[in-house]
Amino acid sequence: MTDFEPVIGLEVHAQLKTAAKLFCRCAAGGFDAPANTNICPVCTGQPGALPAANAGAVELAVRAGLALNCRVNEVSVFVRKNYFYPDLPKAYQISQYDLPLCGAGEITIDLKAGGTKKVRVRRAHLEEDAGKLLHSPAGGAQDHTLADFNRSGVPLLEIVSEPDLNSAEEAYSCLTELKLLLQWAGVCGCDMEKGELRCDVNVSLRPRGAATPGYKVEIKNLNSFKAARDAVSYEISRQAAALNNGETVARDTRLWDEKARRTEPMRSKEAACDYRYFPEPDLPPLRVAPELLAGLKSKTGDLPREARARFIRDFALNAYEAGVVASTRELAAYAEACMRHAATIGLGSKPIMNLLGGEFLARVNENRIAPKDLAEKAIRPELLVKTAALASSGKVSASAAKTLFARAWETGRDPQALLEELGLAQVSDPAQLEAWAREAIAARPKAAQDLKAGNERALGPLVGLLMEKSAGKANPRAAGEVIRKILGE
Ligand SMILES: [Zn+2]
Repeated sequence: MTDFEPVIGLEVHAQLKTAAKLFCRCAAGGFDAPANTNICPVCTGQPGALPAANAGAVELAVRAGLALNCRVNEVSVFVRKNYFYPDLPKAYQISQYDLPLCGAGEITIDLKAGGTKKVRVRRAHLEEDAGKLLHSPAGGAQDHTLADFNRSGVPLLEIVSEPDLNSAEEAYSCLTELKLLLQWAGVCGCDMEKGELRCDVNVSLRPRGAATPGYKVEIKNLNSFKAARDAVSYEISRQAAALNNGETVARDTRLWDEKARRTEPMRSKEAACDYRYFPEPDLPPLRVAPELLAGLKSKTGDLPREARARFIRDFALNAYEAGVVASTRELAAYAEACMRHAATIGLGSKPIMNLLGGEFLARVNENRIAPKDLAEKAIRPELLVKTAALASSGKVSASAAKTLFARAWETGRDPQALLEELGLAQVSDPAQLEAWAREAIAARPKAAQDLKAGNERALGPLVGLLMEKSAGKANPRAAGEVIRKILGE
C-alpha cells in the first residue's frame, strides 16, 4: 500500500450583501418574493439591455479581498463565460477570468496538532448569480420545470484557494475561518441554508513527497462545512483504494449524497465544458481608485486572528474563550468594552467571561439579537460589569446574579439598586442560616442521618432544601458548613 497525501483546494461562492444586483437596480435580496418579480431586461438578458457595475458590490468585494490579504488589482476585467443552461437566459454569465478584482492572498488556519498554516488564496473575483430552477413544483405536473430569475444577477464573490490543504480537517478549519473573515468584514451573511455561501472542494491524492497529482476530482454544491469534511474524507478513501488497486482516478465532477454517505459522478451535461471566455464588450475595465482602496484599507482594522491574540494577551483569556468573544467583530468590541471597564474597577476578566459566555450569550441567542444590534439591544457594558462584580464579591449567589442580570438588562437600571430593591443580597448571617438549616434537617431526617453516618452525598439535598427555603439567598458554602456543624453537635 502506498502512503498517499491528499491535495485539497476550495472554491467558495459568497453572496455579497448589497441592496441591488450586480449590473442593474433590481433588489438583490427577497428570494421569498413571488417568482420573477425582482427582474428587469438587464438581469434577464434581453437584447439591447446594458449592464452597469454596482459600485457597492465592488466595495464589498474589495473589503473581502483585504480581509483575505489579497492583492487588490487597480484594473480588472469582466468577461463572458459562455454556456447554455435554462437558468441562464443570456447563455453566458458575466464573471472575471485572467484579470480578477482580487489576486493572491492567504488565510491562516490553526492546526489540530498545534501551530498554524497559511493557505494561499489564488484569486477572488466578482460574478453574477444565475436563476433558480424548480423541478416538478408543488401543485404542478410532475415533469415540469419552472425558472425563477429573482436570483439572476445577484453579486457573488468567487474565492479560489490554492491546493494547500492536506486533510478533511484542514479543509473544515479553512472554511470556518473563511466564513468568519467574510462575516467580520461585513460583506456576506454566510447563511448556507439560504445559499449565501456555497462551497465546492477539489480533492486528489499523490504519493507522499511526489509532485502534484495528474488529475483533479471536484465535489460540487456542498451545503454545509460538515458535508464538505465528510465528502473529502470519503473521496480520500475512495481514491486511495482505487490507486492501490492499480486503477487510475478519472478527472471527474461529483456530488455528495448525504443519505448514502458517498460521492456520485455528476451527470455529464452538468459538468464543466469549454466556456470560451472573452472580455465583456458592454462593460469597461473595472477600476478601483487608489483613494478608495487606501480608505478601505485604513478601515479594515483588526482581523479575527489578531483580535483573538489580543484577548489572550491583554485580558488573559484562554484560546477557547478568545474564540467565543471574537466570533463576530461586534461581540469582540462589546467584550473588549466590558473588560476594559472591569479593569478600571480592579475586576479581572474571569467574572466577565462567566457572564458573557453564560447568561449574556444565552439571552442574545434566545432573543435572536443580530451582531449589528448588540450595541443597541444588549445590556450596557458597565451594567454587565457591575453585576459581575457583585457576583464575584459573593454579595449575591450565582442564581441571584442571574436574576439580577436579567432585571438590569430589561430595565437598564443599576444592579446595586436592584439588588437592594429585590432583596437579593446573599445571606451569610449564621443565626438566619441556622434557622433554615434546622428546618431543612427536620424535613429530611433520612438525609440528615446519612450525612451524620458519613455519607457526603446526603449533603447536597439538604443544602438544596435550605437554598429553597431561603429563596436562593443563602450563601451555599456557609449553608453547608452550618448543616455540618448542627449534625456534628
Ligand atoms: Zn435586473
